[in-house]
Amino acid sequence: MVNDLSYGTRDKRGNWRPDAPIGLSPLSTGALKKLPGFVAGYLIGWNTLYMGIALAYWAWVLPETEVMASLEWGWTLRLLALNIAGAALFFGAFELRLYRQRAQERRFKYNGTFPAEKPSDVFWFRSQAWDNALRSLFVTVPIGTAIMVLVMWLMASGAVPTSDFASNPVWVIALVLFAPILHEGYFFFVHRAIHWEPLYKRVHSVHHNSINPSPWASLSMHPVESTLYYGALVLQLALFSNPFVVLWLFVLATFGAIVGHIGFDRLELGQERSVTSHAYAHYLHHKYFEVNYCDDGVLPWDQWFGTWHDGTKEADERMKARFRAKREARAQRTGGSAK
Ligand SMILES: [Zn+2]
Ligand SMILES: [Zn+2]
Repeated sequence: MVNDLSYGTRDKRGNWRPDAPIGLSPLSTGALKKLPGFVAGYLIGWNTLYMGIALAYWAWVLPETEVMASLEWGWTLRLLALNIAGAALFFGAFELRLYRQRAQERRFKYNGTFPAEKPSDVFWFRSQAWDNALRSLFVTVPIGTAIMVLVMWLMASGAVPTSDFASNPVWVIALVLFAPILHEGYFFFVHRAIHWEPLYKRVHSVHHNSINPSPWASLSMHPVESTLYYGALVLQLALFSNPFVVLWLFVLATFGAIVGHIGFDRLELGQERSVTSHAYAHYLHHKYFEVNYCDDGVLPWDQWFGTWHDGTKEADERMKARFRAKREARAQRTGGSAK
């Protein structure tokens, strides 16, 4: 069995935190010697899994261009059904293994409690899992599918200009390689915007109901957030892009949402081995709200905007000081108390 205490510490409440700070991209830290390892990690890891899903979609799920050139119920409903089934299998597998079967028990689990142990009125049926699964599968996936269908149709019908691989390989490869960076940057700004109080209350609070997220929380969103979330696909209409890039962005947005919502720092592979999940940055966002709007990706958006939390106690202190200053500034504006 893998010993999680050789990687981190557990407090009296049973909450676990990693010892090592969350690593930032060498592009921002200046540790360029680490760049080859970082690039390898970018290409091999979660992105490999998503690329496998995108290629499987390309081969077996997405209709031919001639079919997508006309907007019809047949192929769009089939695509919707397959997207819902794919997401149910993907997120359901993580949920089943880690939260139902509890294959790792509480090893590497940030929050010592499983959501099922704390039913709450904020969720449909008082169940975080049911609420989040229904919202993910029947709100966000259909909205994402609708956006993908519209963009694919505009491209396939020739209404917007595209680049194909045969005549413009460099541009298409560049778009494929940069898609994860585009997705994370786009997400940072949308996410930052929906934390603006009026939008937060009406829209983004639905996602944040899961303070202790599990895999089903990944796509559990208000419909407005779901719509904004897939906007990077729409950007492709102005980029002389390619249907594969649109599909790749759909896969990154849909399946890639799992990363921050696993709730475990490492995933055990058998008795001896485990791999990092990269879940901690977004877990801290669910815990503290106004930190880590983006994950620990290629570009350090949170560091640039002063909202980065690397998981250390020093970062806790910096965050508390920032929150205190914000409360005091607000109190001065309104003439109230700083509490
Ligand atoms: Zn989240
Ligand atoms: Zn948020």
